Amino acid sequence: MNASNTPLTAAEIKDKARELGAHLVGIADGAQMELYPPDPDDPRRPSDITERDGNRVIVMGYHINSATSRLPAWNHQHKFYNDELTLTALEEMALNLVFWLESRDCPAIVIPANMVNTDGPDIDPTHHQKPVLSLDHAAVEAGLGTLGLNQQILTPEFGPRVKLISVLCSADVEADQPISEALCQGPECGRCLQACPADAVGHWQRDWDACDKYRVPYGFVPTMEFLEKLLSEQDLGTKVSMLRSGESYQLWTGIMRGAGVITGCRRCHDVCPVGADYETMIGDALKEIAENSAAKTERLAEMAAASLLADSPGKGYQSRWIGKLPA
Ligand code: SF4
Ligand code: SF4
Repeated sequence: MNASNTPLTAAEIKDKARELGAHLVGIADGAQMELYPPDPDDPRRPSDITERDGNRVIVMGYHINSATSRLPAWNHQHKFYNDELTLTALEEMALNLVFWLESRDCPAIVIPANMVNTDGPDIDPTHHQKPVLSLDHAAVEAGLGTLGLNQQILTPEFGPRVKLISVLCSADVEADQPISEALCQGPECGRCLQACPADAVGHWQRDWDACDKYRVPYGFVPTMEFLEKLLSEQDLGTKVSMLRSGESYQLWTGIMRGAGVITGCRRCHDVCPVGADYETMIGDALKEIAENSAAKTERLAEMAAASLLADSPGKGYQSRWIGKLPA
């Protein structure tokens, strides 16, 4: 059902999003996202958030600033801080789009990329928590790009160097179509795998538990581990030293600002050669990949050989979001 009494068009919504600052904007068909959840065994669909206002998923992106991508260390504090600022700006932009949509009689709701369920019997915060809606997959449905070797969104403009947010509504407007050809260059490129400090990049998949140790280095799990160590320490002097340590300070600043809690490693974004920004803004700084190894090179060669098989991982259900790979 379209709750809007005032006719809206897709072009008007996109113009408004761009006027509010969005670098990228696309509109996904909620019905397609209902039919094709990223993981059918654990579907996370618009209808799991709202039964009424999820017929359209407006996906918007900000380009992350290039100077931070040019910093080679995965854990450079300026990456964490600048990304946190980008996410804050995205949230404000999305909320303003919601206000605008609702002023046009169209109920709407902001869903950020990192929102997870915090209640329910199956919650286990010591392992990777999937977001309530995968915005990387939604961005593909909205025609913004295709997924890469480690399931990161790749866009023609900025490769994976984007932060995403979404707005759900049921405006009766035209949805975009996914890009059909894969943007990812596959294991023959493999720079994301070479650069990953967690060695979490698989063949069109990712070890999310391993990734999270770097992607959210000051998140819930490291905070709980630190507190457990602190509580079990018997010596008062050691306890006080732990409280005043650099580790404690990092966790505190993370809680205060979100830097390292909702931001963290994105080395796989930085080194990816896809995106018009790569050659002009980034490539000269990231030619060498210090984290590469002979074992990683060997694994990529095995993946490249496996890619030729008819049942290779990129050619099954996930090909909807990976796109058509070169024969
Ligand atoms: S975010 Fe970091 S740890 Fe996770 S896959 Fe990318 S490079 Fe690896
Ligand atoms: S770095 Fe290469 S393999 Fe990885 S996502 Fe980008 S294009 Fe694909």
